[in-house]
Amino acid sequence: MFQDKLILRIPGPTPIPHRVQQAMNHPMIGHRSGQFSKLFADVAKRLKPFFGTTQDVYILAGSGTSALEMAVVNTVGAGDEVAVLVSGAFGERFAKICERYDITAHRLNVPWGEPIRGEQLEAFLAEHPQVKAVFATQCETSTGIINPIEELAQVVRAKSDALFIVDAVSCLGAVPMEMDAWGVDIAVTGSQKAFMLPTGLAFIAASERAWNVIDNRKPQAFYLDLKAYRKSLAEQTTPYTPAVSLIFGLEEVCNMLEEEGLENIFKRHELMRDMTRAAMKALGIPLMTADEFGSATVTSLDPQGKFDAEELRKILRTKYNMIVAGGQQHLKGKIFRIGHMGYCEPLDVITVISAIEMALKEMGVDIPFGEGVKKAQEVYINHV
Ligand SMILES: *Cc1c(COP(=O)(O)O)cnc(C)c1O
Repeated sequence: MFQDKLILRIPGPTPIPHRVQQAMNHPMIGHRSGQFSKLFADVAKRLKPFFGTTQDVYILAGSGTSALEMAVVNTVGAGDEVAVLVSGAFGERFAKICERYDITAHRLNVPWGEPIRGEQLEAFLAEHPQVKAVFATQCETSTGIINPIEELAQVVRAKSDALFIVDAVSCLGAVPMEMDAWGVDIAVTGSQKAFMLPTGLAFIAASERAWNVIDNRKPQAFYLDLKAYRKSLAEQTTPYTPAVSLIFGLEEVCNMLEEEGLENIFKRHELMRDMTRAAMKALGIPLMTADEFGSATVTSLDPQGKFDAEELRKILRTKYNMIVAGGQQHLKGKIFRIGHMGYCEPLDVITVISAIEMALKEMGVDIPFGEGVKKAQEVYINHV
C-alpha cells in the first residue's frame, strides 16, 4: 500500500488539498508584521459568507472545542441556567463545558439518530423560562443528523430572550449557515472538517445581541476572552501568537472555496450524501437517520447485528488503506460513519462504496454485490 494514499473518510480531520499543504509550507513570518496583519484581516473577512453574517469572524488557535468553551464562558457563568439540546455526543459536550463552570444545564435529550424539532424546544422552554442561553449542534457528528437550526432559532427568538448558540464544527463551510437571517447569536466551527485544514484553528462569530451580553460580563477564562479578540482584530491581529502557517493555509482554502462558490459547495456535499445514502439502501445497510435530516457531511450506518462494523473497518483499513469512523460512546463497536466533507468529490464516494462492498463480500455478508456502486453512479449521472 502507498502510505501517502491513505483514503481518509472520517468526519475530521479531513484530507488536505495539495494547494493548501503547499501554502502552509510558506517560510515563517513575524506575527506582528504588516504582511501578517494584511493576510489575517483578509482571511477573517472572507470567512463571513460561510457564517452568513456581516459581523466579524474571530480566529483563535485551538481545536473546535476551544471555541465551544469560548461561546460558553463569554455569555453565561456560575449560577446561570441554560438549555442544551442533546442529540448525541457533541450536544453532551456543551452541557459538560457548562457544568465545569457551575452553570446549570437543562438537557433536552432525544434518541441518538433523531433531530430536535421546534415543537420540542418550545415545550422545553416553557418548562425552563429562566434559561439565558440555548445551545444546539447543527450537524451532530456522532449520528450524522442535521438539526433544523433555522426552525430552532425561530422558536428561541419567539419564545424567549435567551441567546441561541450553535456548534457547527462538522458542517459549516459545507452546508448553509445563515446566522443573521435565521437569528443565530453565536456560531462556532473548526479548521479540520469542511475547511480542509489541519486541526488548530477555531472560528467564532457573534451577533449584536450576543455582544450586548458579552460586553457586560467578565469571562472566567483568560485565553478565551472574546473581547480581547475583538480589540485585536480591529488592529488586524490576534491577542496571542496566531497559528501563522495555518493562516497561510486558510488563505488558500478561501481561494479554493471562492473559486467553487458557496452554492456549488453545498450541492457537491448534498450529492455525496445522496449517493452514499442511495448506495447503502441498495445494499440493505440501515441508515441511522431519516433522509430529511441526513447530514451532507457524514453518514452513519447501523448494521444492526447483520455484520460486525469493527471487522468491516479493519478490512477497509488493512486491505484498502481506507479509514472510516466507528461509533462513539454507547455506539462504539456497533456502527460506522462515512465522512464525505471538505476535500472530497463524488468519485471518492464511489471508491468508498466499492471498498465496503468488497470488504463485506470477504466477510461473507449477503449483499447484492455491485448494487451500491451502481446506485451511486445513477444518482451521480442523473443529478441536475
Ligand atoms: C469535531 C467536532 C467538534 C470539535 O472537536 P475538537 O476535537 O475540539 O476539534 C465539536 N463539535 C462537533 C459537532 C464536532 O464534530
